[in-house]
Amino acid sequence: MAIQWFPGHMHAARKQVAETMAKVDVVIEIVDARLPWSSTNPMIENLRKHRQRPALKILNKQDLADPKLSRVWYDWFKSQSGVEALLLGEDNKKAAATRISQLCSQLAPHRTGVEKPLRAMILGIPNVGKSTLMNHLAKRRIANVADTPGVTKSQQRIELPGGTILYDTPGLMWPKVEIEECGYRLALAGSIGTNAYDQVDVAWFAIETLCERYPQALLDRYGALDLDKPVEELFAAIARRRGAMLSGGRVDEQKTAELILTDFRSGTLGRITLETPDDIREPLPEEIEM
Ligand code: GDP
Repeated sequence: MAIQWFPGHMHAARKQVAETMAKVDVVIEIVDARLPWSSTNPMIENLRKHRQRPALKILNKQDLADPKLSRVWYDWFKSQSGVEALLLGEDNKKAAATRISQLCSQLAPHRTGVEKPLRAMILGIPNVGKSTLMNHLAKRRIANVADTPGVTKSQQRIELPGGTILYDTPGLMWPKVEIEECGYRLALAGSIGTNAYDQVDVAWFAIETLCERYPQALLDRYGALDLDKPVEELFAAIARRRGAMLSGGRVDEQKTAELILTDFRSGTLGRITLETPDDIREPLPEEIEM
């Protein structure tokens, strides 16, 4: 499946991120805990390494992710040089401001105090929950500090406990859709606009992935299924079970696909993680974004 996704303003976004990154001490990237590799923006990682900035990776939506694999990913991120990690979900956002500030201080211990406040930037591809987190953090207070040279005035600026200044970076961070399996996972998680992919195709991918990684979740949700059957038969069986049929006994493919995707995204299928650190691979040359 080719995902029809043409992110605009890539160059402008890259320039803005690079400029802001030069002025900050820590780069915070929010990723989706269900797909921490696929939801990483490759440009952020490249710029960060080039600029030698430490990173805090926030694995958000952990309430929807497999707790065992969240721990595996957490340890994996922490094992990377200059990287700290934080698991966030709907249940523990209250403590986020303090934890983020503490972890940033660990990453840049030389920048603390009123004289030299620690500055961090926060980024993430669409739908990882950046606005939700920023709204939550902004309930505290908007920083009343002098402008930082080079940081656009329009950027939202929040002061966290401990004095850390957090800069939001508006602008589109494109997801890793060039790598086919990442594109499917992003589509399944809802991180790509629905016009850009075929929902039936992605629902088939969901069934295949669940058969391989979480077979019990399929059985618990849709009843007894013969998981050795081909994916189209499983799709039809789910349609029948859930009454997604058209006249003449035909499967309502669109309705069935929407049902499966909604079940995944809402957590009705259970807490599911679509990839592990073992799934990480170097992109092929044609998969690297321009
Ligand atoms: P943004 O595009 O990164 O700014 O993402 P939003 O903040 O708009 O969030 C996208 C969707 O994810 C919204 O429906 C949020 O309610 C939901 N969301 C954000 N954070 C969490 C979380 O920790 N857990 C769950 N389950 N949903 C979340």
